[in-house]
Amino acid sequence: AKREGFATIPDVTWNDVGSLGSVRKELEFSISRPIKYPEVYQGMGLDLATGVLLYGPPGCGKTLVAKAIANDAGANFMCVKGPELLNKFVGESERAVRQLFARARNSSPCIIFFDEIDALAPSRGNDGNGAADRVVNQLLTEMDGLEKRKNIYLIAATNRPDMVDSALLRPGRLDKLLYVPLPDPAGRASILDTLVRRVPLAGDVDVPSIGMSQHCEGFSGADLGALVREACIAALQEQIDESVKMEKAPLPGGVKINHPFVRAHHFE
Ligand code: ATP
Repeated sequence: AKREGFATIPDVTWNDVGSLGSVRKELEFSISRPIKYPEVYQGMGLDLATGVLLYGPPGCGKTLVAKAIANDAGANFMCVKGPELLNKFVGESERAVRQLFARARNSSPCIIFFDEIDALAPSRGNDGNGAADRVVNQLLTEMDGLEKRKNIYLIAATNRPDMVDSALLRPGRLDKLLYVPLPDPAGRASILDTLVRRVPLAGDVDVPSIGMSQHCEGFSGADLGALVREACIAALQEQIDESVKMEKAPLPGGVKINHPFVRAHHFE
């Protein structure tokens, strides 16, 4: 179903997301609660069609929280990448955007996730045959069709909020901006905690202290994911028992190692 572009409910849950408590709360009040309790929101005179822009550095969980909120709401999820919207559908771009929203309406409640939304904005006006302009204009038309957008929620993501066309950010479109930051030490510990849930750990592995360690400074959730994967592979290579152990290694003097995993692995 995914390959054919049909919407499905993602299997990512909030248990898979570490840190990001305030992003979760905002998304719950903007998306999953309106889907679950529409009468409460209508009673407040609130418009149910919400659009959220998630912005922040790469690998910090924007896609993950979008899937988790869809799962939480029991909503279908469709993922479209900005560059795909431009390239894949050249020549029939408006029709493709119309079809996207029509499919979402057929699968409602539905969340459409636009990844790399910034890819659409800078192309506007710089594009010889006007294909990009037509995609964006059609997108704006669909976003504005509030009646037709019933129970369709939009989430867009970008690492470059400054590049996003301001027309997309007007009220009624992607009007809620949420920052998804690089985790602080406690956030890293919480993310590591979720990432090792299914990993067999030796008793001495102190997950919070690894996460809080200054050697993980600047790590994104994706970097922490790579750290866990590498630790698992290292444990398998040891072939003694198949669990991840705590090991300390000195930093080789004078050698500057910049790969996140290598930096994290040298704890001393
Ligand atoms: P990009 O901007 O590059 O698209 P992104 O912000 O959408 O990145 P994700 O794709 O959501 O980042 O995260 C990549 C991977 O990193 C996830 O699949 C997950 O393994 C891990 N990860 C990132 N953030 C978190 C988090 N807060 N909790 C748990 N895992 C995380």
